[in-house]
Amino acid sequence: MALRFGNVSSTLDLAARGKRTGFFGIAHSDNRLAFSTIQSPLAVISNGDGPTVLVCGGNHGDEYEGQIIARRLYETLSPDALSGRLILAPALNMPAVQDANRVSPLDGGNLNRSFLGAGFMGPTQDIAGFIATHLIPKADLAVDIHSGGRQTNYVDTAYFCLSADVVQNQQTHELAQVMGLPYTMVVPAGDASGDFDSAAHAAGCAMISCELGGEGKVTRLALERGWHAVLRLLAHQGVLTPAAKDRLGIAPAPETTFLDLGDDVVYLTAQSYGMIEPLVGLGDEVAVGQPVALLRDMYNMDLPPQVFTSPRTGVVSIQKTSPMVTPGDHICVLCPMLSTAQLATQMAKAAP
Ligand SMILES: [Zn+2]
Repeated sequence: MALRFGNVSSTLDLAARGKRTGFFGIAHSDNRLAFSTIQSPLAVISNGDGPTVLVCGGNHGDEYEGQIIARRLYETLSPDALSGRLILAPALNMPAVQDANRVSPLDGGNLNRSFLGAGFMGPTQDIAGFIATHLIPKADLAVDIHSGGRQTNYVDTAYFCLSADVVQNQQTHELAQVMGLPYTMVVPAGDASGDFDSAAHAAGCAMISCELGGEGKVTRLALERGWHAVLRLLAHQGVLTPAAKDRLGIAPAPETTFLDLGDDVVYLTAQSYGMIEPLVGLGDEVAVGQPVALLRDMYNMDLPPQVFTSPRTGVVSIQKTSPMVTPGDHICVLCPMLSTAQLATQMAKAAP
């Protein structure tokens, strides 16, 4: 029986054992797509009784690491490597992927702001509804892999989205440690409405997302960090057999540094037009008062550059790709590091 939500449907059998691919199709009719369906690959590898893990990429169309990792999992794993099920969706928002852009060219929809979706309210809402209705509820763990896209560059970081559920927060905390990416950004509860994380949390599904580099390109380091982080998640979840774990050579998780993306985060934001000269690099630790960037007027060379300084200590966690800015553009984001005690306080605040 076909899975359907709005104008999105799939005939791929996600229940039967074995390994197969299909797609979910997005029926959309406009001048270019009057007589076709946009196909987004969907795959399943299943064997024995065990948990289901859903691994997704391409939520935003100009982020590539997740698209590669989900496809590489399909190429690498056979059913006998699993005790459970792996559902792979490498290109969640295929119209955006085809366009190599963050959001859908069909309706301007940002998939990661569109959950839980609404049927027949445009392709992006339909895709969100399909994922929330037919994929997330089948999963014990969902993994959504992002990167900075063309506009931004991130440190390689897990995204720990807090919820109002104490058990869920403990679970996500553990998953972030299992991933072992260099950083884990801690996002306050309610800050991520409409995203995949909150949709999974609402469904009672364990969830972790991440950001791997960006600037619309793929780096070997970010890709391999993401790959090993996902393998560790699969092993931790118990979906890989012991033999498969040995064969894949899964290394222990490096320690992750928790960063505050909540009350104490600093966005350095341009208030005028101009060109940025960065004075620090991604991942640098900056001190209070340290110059972080210069903003120069494009036309008047007599105007001294505006100096942006850091109002507090923190890690340069996100940087804008292009040096050209207009008022309101964030130049970079400085995230304070969280101690174990500070993280515990944040978790207690989210789920008292
Ligand atoms: Zn993204």
